[in-house]
Amino acid sequence: MAMQQFGKDESGAGIKVNEVHDLTRIERIGAHSHIRGLGLDDSLDARAVSQGMVGQNNARRSAGVILSMIREGKIAGRAVLLAGQPGTGKTAIAMGMAKALGEETPFAMMAASEIFSLEMNKTEALTQAFRKAIGVRIKEETEIIEGEVVEIEIDKPATQGAAAKTGKLTLKTTEMETIYDLGTKMIESLTKEKVSAGDVVAIDKASGKITKLGRSFARSRDFDAMGPQTKFVQCPEGELQKRKEVVHVVTLHEIDVINSRTQGFLALFAGDTGEIRTEVREQIDLKVAEWREEGKAEIVPGVLFIDEVHMLDIECFSFLNRALENDMAPVLVVATNRGITKIRGTNYRSPHGIPIDLLDRLLIIATQPYSEKEIRLILDIRCEEEDVEMTDDAKELLTKIGHETSLRYAIQLITASSLVALKRKSAEVEVEDVSRVYTMFVDIKRSTQFLIEYQDQFMFNEVPMAEADEA
Ligand code: ATP
Repeated sequence: MAMQQFGKDESGAGIKVNEVHDLTRIERIGAHSHIRGLGLDDSLDARAVSQGMVGQNNARRSAGVILSMIREGKIAGRAVLLAGQPGTGKTAIAMGMAKALGEETPFAMMAASEIFSLEMNKTEALTQAFRKAIGVRIKEETEIIEGEVVEIEIDKPATQGAAAKTGKLTLKTTEMETIYDLGTKMIESLTKEKVSAGDVVAIDKASGKITKLGRSFARSRDFDAMGPQTKFVQCPEGELQKRKEVVHVVTLHEIDVINSRTQGFLALFAGDTGEIRTEVREQIDLKVAEWREEGKAEIVPGVLFIDEVHMLDIECFSFLNRALENDMAPVLVVATNRGITKIRGTNYRSPHGIPIDLLDRLLIIATQPYSEKEIRLILDIRCEEEDVEMTDDAKELLTKIGHETSLRYAIQLITASSLVALKRKSAEVEVEDVSRVYTMFVDIKRSTQFLIEYQDQFMFNEVPMAEADEA
């Protein structure tokens, strides 16, 4: 059954899905919507402020090197770790890589904690994530014939087989047209039976259905079925044939989904894909291997980005180790803000909560905390992105807040303070608006302070116990 659908895929249904990319390239104002690339110049040096990126020069430069290796297809199956304090741009850098890679290279993104909330087992979820990051570039050679196409008129209405057999063809008009212009549809509907020079094709003007009648028009069995609105054209003779290569990129996961559901490629839009059977995947891998051997397809290793990687457990880590060995493996980019901590599912501690054997194969990129100047530049970009007008003084105050609390907290205050400004009918955010929201929403430091002061009034308070344990 799966292979049958695969056939459907080959004839066109599947290959039309090349625009379905798994990465949620959401263009609304999200946390990272201002990031449009890594902001590097041609020699991979980080420009001070470019493509929405500010500072973090070393990390951006390193990410740029990885990017060019990915583009050259040199580091399939390798893994990169972005490590640094919260809010130092790890996710932003990964998003920058995704944008810089362009549409053709698959980029799949997930937070490690998602693994535990899906209605499928952990390794299935990871397998799907991996296959979302592996593209298959399918090359199809389509024969197109450019040149003079001859429209043919039939002497008698072709209702009888006999008439067809002796059907006399007289040339009516000659017009410059290309078969390709007549519609790719024609080519597609003839993928099994390629049109070649000299062939006569019948086009039903009403339905657009195209039937190849071959060179020997008179012998065609299809002739009888032609209606009066049929247009006949003869493909030009001679050296007018040209080959056109059509390239589609689909991910292995998309092929899996198409072939594991009865509704074919429509399954891609159904959302919930559920678990995919191993046999389906095996058949697909075999088919793709066949295509690769025939030169019809090549693998495009993409990028799989797993955020909060410390949330994975020991089973997932061992899965990753194994999956990276596969010759089709994508580049794995993981990020964490944890220091030395327990590996989930064990009692062992390890840097970043990642087992040493996996850590050993990672290229580690460290991110650094931002300076006040950099925070200001990021806030400028975010104000522009969120379409918020803010006075210099207010931005100055917000920068101070960002420096003393966190960049993320300061970014969140932009929208909040613009709403407060709007309420007092001001188009511009001023210092008083920022101060107002600063008192309305507490940052982590003040929240923690509050909890310590009023701990007795909260339920399940464990601070004293934990402190006692530490001691
Ligand atoms: P965490 O460890 O908490 O996940 P993170 O290191 O992934 O944090 P981000 O989410 O990337 O941090 O950054 C916080 C916010 O600051 C985001 O909105 C991000 O787009 C923005 N940001 C971070 N670094 C930069 C930068 N260098 N240039 C522009 N914007 C940035």
